[in-house]
Amino acid sequence: MEMGFIGVGYMGRHIAKNLINSGHDLKIFDIRKEAAAELLQMGATWADNPSQASEDTQVTFMSLPTPKDVADVVLGEGGIFEGTNPSPTIFDLSTTSIDIIEQISDAASKKKISFLDAPVSGGTEGAIKGTLCVMVGGDEEVFQNHKEILELIGDKVIYCGNVGSGSICKIVNNLIGLSVNVLLSEAFTLGVKAGMSPDILFDAISKSSGNTQSMQVFPATLFKRNFEPGFQVDLAAKDVGLATEMGRKMRIPMELSNIVQQRYIEAQNQGLGQLSANAVALIQETRSGVEIKQ
Ligand code: NAD
Repeated sequence: MEMGFIGVGYMGRHIAKNLINSGHDLKIFDIRKEAAAELLQMGATWADNPSQASEDTQVTFMSLPTPKDVADVVLGEGGIFEGTNPSPTIFDLSTTSIDIIEQISDAASKKKISFLDAPVSGGTEGAIKGTLCVMVGGDEEVFQNHKEILELIGDKVIYCGNVGSGSICKIVNNLIGLSVNVLLSEAFTLGVKAGMSPDILFDAISKSSGNTQSMQVFPATLFKRNFEPGFQVDLAAKDVGLATEMGRKMRIPMELSNIVQQRYIEAQNQGLGQLSANAVALIQETRSGVEIKQ
């Protein structure tokens, strides 16, 4: 199938690779052409803007950092909707705001284009292995018609409901994981300052009720001072912000989530924005005077 793919960063490049390896023809656009180098070598073609990437294709995927990027790529100058024959179906794999999804969805229905939000969870490893969880919102028939393609991206493809519902699930999910991340940094600094090694804490907690998926990456990341992204602090700050913004609009009291957001903002201000989200622990290490390392 002819496909457009826009945004080939940490996630998009691996997702695109899996689609190419499954025999699909991809037209790629990214504001950094070098990000697409390997995919072009694999046979993908280059497009000079989002409109060209989507033109005369059957489906377009986007994997972009922020809601503004998603809006620009679809609605902006040279955007998908400026094309004369854009894809009839667009899946947004990014973690985006509900407002932008609604705005795009309204514009899409006027053009008789199906727009579905399909944010993913499972990190770069899941993107490489094709084991992501894909949370899809939008027209159910269109979803069913593309399910096999989505299963090339992730082995857990969930239909969540109307457009925007995939993103609600994703934003709630990331709020949990990223909040736990901050709590873990407090808990581990406590344990280390009280005399325990991170390894023994990890082993004991892994076999106890405090075990959590967010902690399972610690031995390979935090304990080894490996903060190579993966998933950047900047994107973590964005995702917690998407959750607290929704909370404000819907008048949901979210005291803890807003404190968590402040911690990620602090990490950004300390120059940690491009590191993996686990680097938020460095803020707590400085405050507590201990390091959570082997
Ligand atoms: P990334 O920043 O590595 O990749 C985004 C790519 O989009 C980059 O190559 C960038 O050059 C390109 N880009 C930015 N603005 C653009 C524009 N206007 N037009 C075209 N290209 C543009 O981000 P990522 O980590 O791959 O994440 C992508 C999305 O997936 C984000 O919404 C993120 O929240 C979500 N996500 C990331 C992870 C992860 O582990 N990294 C996991 C799940 C979900």
